[in-house]
Amino acid sequence: MNKHTDVLIIGGGFAGVGVAQKLSKEGVDVTLIDRKNYFEVTFATLRNVTAPKKHGNTPRKLYNDFIDGTFIQGSVSAMNDSKVMLESGDIIHFKQAIIASGSRYPTLPEAKSNSKFDYAERNQEMLDAHESLSSAQSVLVIGGGVVGVEFAGEIASAFPGKDITLVHSKDSLLDNSEPKAQRKVLEQLTAKGVKVKLNRKLSKHEGSYRCANTGETIKADVVYECVGMVPNTEFLQAELADVLDSSGFIAVDEYMRVKGYENLYSLGDCATLDSHKHGYLASVQGARLADMLLKAMKGKKVKPYKTPPVVVVTPTGTDSGVAQLPFAVTTMNFFVNLKQKDLGISNMYKMYGTVPDS
Ligand SMILES: Cc1cc2nc3c(=O)[nH]c(=O)nc-3n(C[C@H](O)[C@H](O)[C@H](O)COP(=O)(O)OP(=O)(O)OC[C@H]3O[C@@H](n4cnc5c(N)ncnc54)[C@H](O)[C@@H]3O)c2cc1C
Repeated sequence: MNKHTDVLIIGGGFAGVGVAQKLSKEGVDVTLIDRKNYFEVTFATLRNVTAPKKHGNTPRKLYNDFIDGTFIQGSVSAMNDSKVMLESGDIIHFKQAIIASGSRYPTLPEAKSNSKFDYAERNQEMLDAHESLSSAQSVLVIGGGVVGVEFAGEIASAFPGKDITLVHSKDSLLDNSEPKAQRKVLEQLTAKGVKVKLNRKLSKHEGSYRCANTGETIKADVVYECVGMVPNTEFLQAELADVLDSSGFIAVDEYMRVKGYENLYSLGDCATLDSHKHGYLASVQGARLADMLLKAMKGKKVKPYKTPPVVVVTPTGTDSGVAQLPFAVTTMNFFVNLKQKDLGISNMYKMYGTVPDS
C-alpha cells in the first residue's frame, strides 16, 4: 500500500483520538493509525483485572465503530518528515503528522497490552490476568506510584483475604504528590490490610525478590511490577533521533511542534509538553492541538498551549481514594467519585462523541 493523507495521526490513545475526532468533524482529511484495533480507557484496566464483571469489556471499543476519519491498523516502524513506514512494508505519505504514540509498561501488560493488539485477544488477556490473580494466595506489588498504589487497593477490595505486599523504593508512596496525599493513601491501604514496605529496592533472584538494604527475601504467588513507564518512540531512532531527549521523549515547543520541524507535532505521554503524564491532559492537549491546526489552516493567530488545572484521583480500592486538586488534597467522596463512578469510561467516550459498547 502506498497511501497519501493530509494529516496522519500516529497512536489512538487519549491524545490521538482527541485530535482525530475534532479535525475529521471539520472536514480535514485525517488518517489515524494504531497497532491495536481498539481504543482502551486505561483508567479502568486495573479494576478490569480484579473485578472483570464490573465493567465487562466497556473500557474497550473498536476504532472502526467510532472514529470519524480513516483508521488503519498497523505498527509504525520508522518515519521522517514526509512519510511513515509500517512493519507490513506499507508506506503512508502525509503533509502533517501528529505523533501520539504514548507510553507502555514493559513489565505490566495488564495496564496497557504489549502484545494483544486485537480486541478479542485483549479481552481474553484481561480474563486470564483475573484468573491468575484469583488463584494466588499471596500478591507482591512492586512500585508505589499511582499505578502500584491503585492496583494494591483494587486487589485488596476485590480479595480481602489475600496476603498483599506493596514495596516501594522511596520513603513515601506517590513520590510526586503532596505529603497529605502520600499519608492518606498509606493510611487507606494499611486499613485494607496491605503491607506497605518503603525504602526497599528489590531485585529478582531465582524466583523470589531480594532487598539489598534490609536483606529480606519476598516470595509471592503473583507479582506485579508497576514500574518503568517508557515512551513509545523507538520508531523515531532511525531517521529522527535528534528530536528525542535523553529519556526518549519527543521534544516539542509550546505549540506542540516537534522541535526543528514545521509539519510534525507531538503530544500526550510521548512528548515533553507536560511533565505529568495523565490521560486527561492528553485528551485536553488533543482538543487544543486540533483547534490550533484549524485556526492555522484559516490563517488565524494561534495561542500557545498552557497546562490546565488538573484533578488527579487515585483510588485505593472501590470505596476509598485521594483526590489532588490544584490547591488542596481531599478524600471527600464528591471528588474521589469523579473517578470511582465508572473510572471515567463514559466521560472519555462522551468527549470523543460516542458511548461505551453495552
Ligand atoms: C493503570 C493506569 C491508570 C491510569 N489512570 C489515570 C487516570 O485516572 N487519569 C488520568 O488522567 N490518567 C491516568 N493514567 C495515565 C494515562 O493512561 C496516560 O497518561 C494516557 O494513556 C496517555 O495517553 P496517550 O494518548 O498519550 O498515549 P497512550 O494511551 O499510550 O496511547 C498511545 C497509542 O499509540 C499506539 N502506538 C504506540 N506505538 C505505536 C506504533 N509504533 N505504531 C502504531 N501505534 C502505536 C498504542 O497502541 C496506543 O494506542 C493511567 C494509566 C494507567 C496505566
